[in-house]
Amino acid sequence: MRPILVLVSNALRLDDHPALVAACQDGAPVIPVYILDNEAAGEWAVGAARRWWLSQSLKKFSDDLMNVGSRLIIRRGDTCGIVADFIAATGAGGLYMTRGYTPWQRALEGRLHIICSGKDIQCRRFGGNLLLEPEEIATKTGKPYEVFTPFWRQAKTLIDHSSPLPAPSNIPAPDTWPESQSLDDLDLAPKPVNWAETMAVSWLPGEAGAQAMLGSFLEEAVASYGLARDLPGVEGTSKLSPYLASGEISPRRIWHAGRRHLEARGTEADGTVSFLRELGWREFSAHLLFHFPHMPEQPLKGSFNAFPWSSGKSTDLAAWQKGQTGFPIIDAGMRQLWQTGWMHNRVRMIVASFLVKDMLWHWRDGEAWFWDTLVDADLASNAASWQWVAGCGADAAPYFRIFNPILQGEKFDKAGDYVRTYVPELARLPDAYIHKPFDAPAEILAAAGVTLGKTYPKPILDRSIARDRALAALRQTKAA
Ligand code: FAD
Repeated sequence: MRPILVLVSNALRLDDHPALVAACQDGAPVIPVYILDNEAAGEWAVGAARRWWLSQSLKKFSDDLMNVGSRLIIRRGDTCGIVADFIAATGAGGLYMTRGYTPWQRALEGRLHIICSGKDIQCRRFGGNLLLEPEEIATKTGKPYEVFTPFWRQAKTLIDHSSPLPAPSNIPAPDTWPESQSLDDLDLAPKPVNWAETMAVSWLPGEAGAQAMLGSFLEEAVASYGLARDLPGVEGTSKLSPYLASGEISPRRIWHAGRRHLEARGTEADGTVSFLRELGWREFSAHLLFHFPHMPEQPLKGSFNAFPWSSGKSTDLAAWQKGQTGFPIIDAGMRQLWQTGWMHNRVRMIVASFLVKDMLWHWRDGEAWFWDTLVDADLASNAASWQWVAGCGADAAPYFRIFNPILQGEKFDKAGDYVRTYVPELARLPDAYIHKPFDAPAEILAAAGVTLGKTYPKPILDRSIARDRALAALRQTKAA
């Protein structure tokens, strides 16, 4: 039988992988293919932290495929050219893939269809990376949703509750395999090279890591998720986002496991419902990107095109990126991001608000830095969240909502555990000053070994001036 090529670039898993399962069921030999296509992705080619993640994950997925009698064929370059060559070389009769929702993935899927059409090659696209396809949900007037609560209310009634597909125990192999490039050929190693060392101790990329993370989260943490999810100093969230971003676990697997957990406990009281609702934000972001494909580049609210951003007019961006702003919760967040490739959601909101509102830097500068440094960088969630914080997106925070980094720190990191972990030079400050070393009396600073401007930066801005400046600009934009 003619083999089937299965493009696995956005679904590096055996579990609940509809495209792979369908190919196996067809009974033909299956050729799993991963292609790193930076040209097609353009500005949104995989960022540096995710490249490191992929270097680990592809190794694992390749081993997992070997264990079921198959192989991962790896290539770097133009997807259409590579697929056309593979079709010619293998005589493939099918090209199966998991749908993507970014503009470049959608365009690519269209081009792949054209390659197959007229050639007696079945080109099939499967879901698997969302709970609900964007076309399956709309407002009563047939428009896309732009507010989360009604979106999620309807989405919950439409989600298919069928069980995830089990991983195939054997994948039929072709007689001869097309040539694969090596992982090294993909040039995924991060620069500087030692950047990855701290990420490597924080994560176990790959499908087994994802399943273990889900299991331990449901067992140990979901019960207190409702409260703990806002506390950055506590391991209170699932940390499944990087696995979802690389397709190492399906949202349906998480949804199903969460629902089973809920049924077993027989209560709505624990954190499972709020946890599953967060998956709804991921769905909502994908829905927005699908219907507003310009979202990563342009504000959803047009009035923000004229907003007086101060990008490029100061050198403060580097201080924000490196966690040297003089505001402890901001610096802790930005250093957690640099060291681990991930940042707690509460702190993402605080650092984003600080960049776009206090510093008046364009949200796109923050979006770009996150894109490069997050192991969970996801075009839809990143763009939707930055626009939400900036006030120019869907269901956005009210324009006058400017997170106060000191009050946020005192509320959500009361004893300063999070700050002490990532800003160790402040570790000996008493709780009362851990979020505002600039207000501490000289003798307290001296006793804690802190010299502002030397061992830890002085604040890069005066918050009350910055706040007034932001509010004036935001009011003007709102009125425009
Ligand atoms: P949990 O709290 O365990 O939530 C479970 C899952 O729900 C997450 O893995 C994620 O898939 C989803 N989720 C949770 N919160 C959100 C949210 N607000 N929006 C969309 N999905 C959500 N998330 C990304 O996956 N990729 C990004 O690039 C990204 N960029 C962000 C940028 C900013 C400025 C902000 C404020 C948030 C961003 N988020 C992004 C959303 C959120 O911070 C992360 O999804 C979450 O912190 C991941 O940690 P977790 O897996 O432990 O989440």
